[in-house]
Amino acid sequence: MKLATLAAVAAAIAFCQPAAAQTPKPGVEKLYIFNCGEGSAPDQSRWSTGVNVGKPIDFSDNCYLIKHARGWFLWDTGVVDAIADRAGGQPGENGGIGWKRPKKLAAQIEEIGIKPADVKFMAVSHTHPDHAGNIELFPQAMIYVQKAEYDWPLPLNLGRFKPEHPVTKLEGDYDVFGDGSIVLLSTPGHTPGHQSLLVKLPKTGALVLSGDAVHFGDNWENRRVPSFNFDVVKSAASLKRIEEVLAKEKATLWINHDKAQSATLKYSPAFYE
Ligand SMILES: [Zn+2]
Repeated sequence: MKLATLAAVAAAIAFCQPAAAQTPKPGVEKLYIFNCGEGSAPDQSRWSTGVNVGKPIDFSDNCYLIKHARGWFLWDTGVVDAIADRAGGQPGENGGIGWKRPKKLAAQIEEIGIKPADVKFMAVSHTHPDHAGNIELFPQAMIYVQKAEYDWPLPLNLGRFKPEHPVTKLEGDYDVFGDGSIVLLSTPGHTPGHQSLLVKLPKTGALVLSGDAVHFGDNWENRRVPSFNFDVVKSAASLKRIEEVLAKEKATLWINHDKAQSATLKYSPAFYE
């Protein structure tokens, strides 16, 4: 290339720079929190081996609906809406969590003036029933899931997702809209393909939505991992990863099942900008 041409190219690059600085703003506009279940269990130490043995614990179970310029994105779907129709909810078995559902997810979505069919994108942190209970309320929505979770076998070789549900299988982190505003973080351990979510809101700032990488604040403070997790070593590494993301993004951690923290948050129809 001749020098004159090089100079022209350099000028063109310099000319382009202001335009590059005007790349579209991250497209997240707001975030709603829905009550997607209320749980109670007889013994907290199921999640914190040797600590608070025999002490009952209550859990929140949240879903988060995010308005992005490209469409509505739902994170987690809670316990199945049918539990709302059962008097007494769904009792816990063998020390597990009993669930109530004061309000259906579908009803909470309609309360803000949209329909489940308007949700174009979704992801669940993992496939346990308190997160994956209502995936098929959104049969049209593209679901983003780690391949390791999608392929995690169920007894009788049943699939964890309906084969006809639109899916994007991931192997690691994924920036859903390419603008850094909604990023799936691979945080395996609780289940093989567990993921958490980084969301950047224009006024509230950056949040990390935990999924079940951690269940409640005391476990987070002490970096405790439940012994029943699919892989406890990977679980501990995922807590470290979340700690690093929180520091790098100056983000706040919202722990899905932490009832005390959830009680401090605004639920729909209020929202975060
Ligand atoms: Zn859970």
